[in-house]
Amino acid sequence: MNVLVINCGSSSLKFQLIDSTSENVIAKGLCERIGIEGSRLVYTPVVSGGNKVILEEAMPDHTKAVQMVLDALTNAEYGVVKSLSEIQAVGHRIVHGGEKFASSTLLTEEVIEGIKECSDLAPLHNPANLVGIEACRKLMPGVPMVGVFDTAFHQTMPEKAYLYGIPYSFYKEHKIRRYGFHGTSHKYVSQKAAELLNKPYDQCKIIVCHLGNGASVSAVSNGQCVDTSMGLTPLEGLIMGTRSGDIDPAIIEFIANKEGKSLGEIMKILNKESGVLGLSDGLSSDFRDLEEAYLKEGDVVGKRTLEAFCYRVAKYIGSYAVAMNGVDAICFTAGVGENSPIVRNIICENYLQFMGVEVDQELNGKRGQDLIISKNENGPKVLVIPTDEELMIARDTTELVK
Ligand code: AMP
Repeated sequence: MNVLVINCGSSSLKFQLIDSTSENVIAKGLCERIGIEGSRLVYTPVVSGGNKVILEEAMPDHTKAVQMVLDALTNAEYGVVKSLSEIQAVGHRIVHGGEKFASSTLLTEEVIEGIKECSDLAPLHNPANLVGIEACRKLMPGVPMVGVFDTAFHQTMPEKAYLYGIPYSFYKEHKIRRYGFHGTSHKYVSQKAAELLNKPYDQCKIIVCHLGNGASVSAVSNGQCVDTSMGLTPLEGLIMGTRSGDIDPAIIEFIANKEGKSLGEIMKILNKESGVLGLSDGLSSDFRDLEEAYLKEGDVVGKRTLEAFCYRVAKYIGSYAVAMNGVDAICFTAGVGENSPIVRNIICENYLQFMGVEVDQELNGKRGQDLIISKNENGPKVLVIPTDEELMIARDTTELVK
């Protein structure tokens, strides 16, 4: 079955057409600057080995963007299917499913209403996801569609992990609790880890460190997520590219008083100007730049930034090993987790040796494949697993549409 996987942002749309039988990517691409001047579609017909095609055309809305994607996929010269009838289903990435959606779901009117109701929990993301759904419904009537939620995998967390220490009425009345994000990635990587360990998924204790521009850690015990570092929103947890992660909530009032800033301004700082970008005094949110600085003799900025980032990751690994009363595997994934031997090394060498972790430096230097990089027989294994959220969305979509 050919599944079109759609990941819609407020001004962008990423897509992949996946043959869910062979699990091969047929074509992929990205629409940028939707609704903004200078919009373009970057399209790659992967299956034919064709070159990247760049189509610059005005995209006033997401419907036009989807139309351009469908036109590219069926184009006589660089298309990959003869007609739209060769696309049997669409899988949509949805950021927030609240407590309503604990698994992927066929998109019916009722489900779409449910996603709308979750919009106050993700006011930037869910409305964009919904616009993508509407555009596809308009242009591909009758094609079954599935919603795959970033929060769903974490819905198995027990109450003790998802409740905050605030009045319980806030949970009852407003559903303020930990939800967690990157769930599709945590699920894919933890399943893959069990495969690599050659152990049944439901008998493994796995910690997944999804370290990208956004970053989160999760604890997966016996095939179920039992804790994760992001919270009500993706702001909690690790120090990220530009997000602060955990801070003392009283800092918000303190900054408001000291700098005369509004709540909105402070939230913008915590989301967009903090994390490693803020810690490095504006040097960069990109770990490649921070690593370059870190490796320079006498460098202070790169060192303090990477060390603070890695320390926070290590603390979460420690606390999740305790939460699960043990750990079989610690996995690294996403942009930084997959590509930064330096970050993996600081975390494992400085903090995890007491658990018996020992990293093989040669294996740690490799890239782009599933790998076990630890050499210890006893103690948890350390794995690097390139994540594949699109494949996971295609799998769930196929399962539900069959
Ligand atoms: P993601 O959000 O998963 O796409 O990750 C994006 C981030 O990965 C970038 O902002 C970089 O900081 C980081 N990254 C990508 N490639 C490398 C690399 N070769 N070495 C270190 N960090 C990298």
